[in-house]
Amino acid sequence: TGEEVVRPIVQLDELTINRIAAGEVIHRPASAIKEMLENSIDAGATFVTITLAAGGLKLLEIADNGHGIRCEDLPLVCERFATSKLTAYADLQSIATFGFRGEALASISHVARVTVTTATAGAQCAFRATYADGKLVPEPGGSSAAPRACARTVGTTITVEDLFANTPTRRRAMRSASDEYARVLDVVGKYALAYPHVAMAVRKAGSGAAGAGHADLTTRGSVDARAAVRAVHGGALAQKLLAAESSDEAYGLRVSLLCSDANWAAKRPSVVVFVNGRLVECAPLAAAIEREYSPFLPRGAHPFALLQLSAPAARVDVNVHPTKADVLLADEGEAIALVQNAARAALGDANSSRALATAS
Ligand code: ADP
Ligand code: MG
Repeated sequence: TGEEVVRPIVQLDELTINRIAAGEVIHRPASAIKEMLENSIDAGATFVTITLAAGGLKLLEIADNGHGIRCEDLPLVCERFATSKLTAYADLQSIATFGFRGEALASISHVARVTVTTATAGAQCAFRATYADGKLVPEPGGSSAAPRACARTVGTTITVEDLFANTPTRRRAMRSASDEYARVLDVVGKYALAYPHVAMAVRKAGSGAAGAGHADLTTRGSVDARAAVRAVHGGALAQKLLAAESSDEAYGLRVSLLCSDANWAAKRPSVVVFVNGRLVECAPLAAAIEREYSPFLPRGAHPFALLQLSAPAARVDVNVHPTKADVLLADEGEAIALVQNAARAALGDANSSRALATAS
């Protein structure tokens, strides 16, 4: 009808930019937990305890026994693009840590109030600092934003409160607290399988008095991935596990597979894929496993599998997705073939041992 108004292009202010960017990295409590759990593992932690209230929307706390953060680094912890893990772009070729771009805690601090309590081995005491929008701020009721001395053993506790309180649209997009809680259990359960030596626990705040709180997920910390499968998925599956390894020297690829036998039928897709230690959605690799099971399983049933692929760092691009949920494999075809081999070997062994069992 009327004439269109041509509006001027303006540069967004920094707060708006950061809040938009945060939304891409932190979708929900489970994505915040994934980032923080990776930070704990990067810090060399061997135990991690996660406590949630209202599915993590009210409170989300993760405590670890990693190497801690130096007091002088605390002002930078929640700044965007501040990291202790990468100094030059070229380092991305050989990155061995989950983190590399210093975006996770910054993002979380733009959509929640963050408190970090941390101690390093050499320090006289622990320090606590509170953040909002990337910067140190005074704790509620306090006057100084400077880190405060406190007590803690070596390690780090990160407390995230009122997630998405300042982004009401995102807050409304969250379904129930129990749904968010289930997603957190799911992601921690997956990491527990790939990092069995890290003891993990997830519990609801206030559950169980006197520190003897009942956790909804607990792993003990063990060298054995089977023990982790038992802790996360129960003994019935743990008893049915098959294992296989395969490698392709020419491409530097190695696959390690721990999977259910042909008699196990999951209702939902249960292939968990780690590439170079990162939890990823890699549909082609998961599909390769499902294909090998399809002759054995009823329609609509799925195998369980923990698939760990290692590939030369320079052949895996981890910087393709804001949540790092996706990776680009330069040698995807070879990787798929290798996964297929491993699944066949695992199932083949099972078939021949079954044949043996019936023959004897
Ligand atoms: P990135 O992991 O990409 O470096 P983050 O925003 O996740 O970025 O973390 C920023 C920095 O804070 C890390 O580089 C690390 O130095 C420090 N950090 C975060 N969490 C922990 C932790 N649990 N233990 C020790 N250091 C941590
Ligand atoms: Mg990180």
